[in-house]
Amino acid sequence: MRRFKSNSPLLNGLILFLGAFLCILTLHVNVVNSQTVHSELASFRPVEVWRPAHETNFGKRYPKDIYGRLVNNAPIVVLHETVISAADTIRVFQTPHYNEDDQASYHALITRNGTIVHLVSKKNRAFGAGNSVFRGPNGPEAVKTHRIYPASVNNFAYHISLESPADGRHNGNHHSGYSQAQYKSLAYLVAKSRIPQSRVTTHKGVDRSGSRKDPRSFNNRHFTSLVQRFSQVNNATTVSQNSPAFFELGPSMPVQEAR
Ligand SMILES: [Zn+2]
Repeated sequence: MRRFKSNSPLLNGLILFLGAFLCILTLHVNVVNSQTVHSELASFRPVEVWRPAHETNFGKRYPKDIYGRLVNNAPIVVLHETVISAADTIRVFQTPHYNEDDQASYHALITRNGTIVHLVSKKNRAFGAGNSVFRGPNGPEAVKTHRIYPASVNNFAYHISLESPADGRHNGNHHSGYSQAQYKSLAYLVAKSRIPQSRVTTHKGVDRSGSRKDPRSFNNRHFTSLVQRFSQVNNATTVSQNSPAFFELGPSMPVQEAR
């Protein structure tokens, strides 16, 4: 097949010039687009409120396990979904539960409109994933903190939950997914925690009971790319595996929160 080739040096020069011009134009548009996205993320501040869980529904983070061994696991993020509405979830966590079997909580949940609701301080141990283990780069990690209950990741977990859509209030495997506002607030929160991507997991990922599958219908690719972009704009470099800073970071506690 013959390839087009002009004998005119003027025409060749013109074609070269046009090609170079188009390349520069494309590059410029891409840079402007990415700057627009970056500046939009840099100025993004979700609405954040405190709805403190009742003190029966969370505990302190232990420095030692029940065998007296020091524990210093780096924090992990565990993602969940509420299944029930955000309002009902908050109500459950604010209800005193003196029976240990009924005690449950997340550190934060994200409503459909992207509002971040803080429930338990990151300094404390939310009861988000009983009978669980994190299998990461350092091998299996779990801490036994209770004589009767199995070891879990709760002692070093940051539990964040997404409010399920209305068509997800069932025990099935799928639903219509989460809103863009939720992905954005979630990525913002995770990037701000500075917990590395290698230590971000799901309830399904750490569950040992075989009964947990949340968060269902979760777009992990979209979430991961958003976290990376937030991390870039916030200049949030990943912290060392044993950084103790995480548990002290976070929004200030409301005065009405118990202990
Ligand atoms: Zn869960």
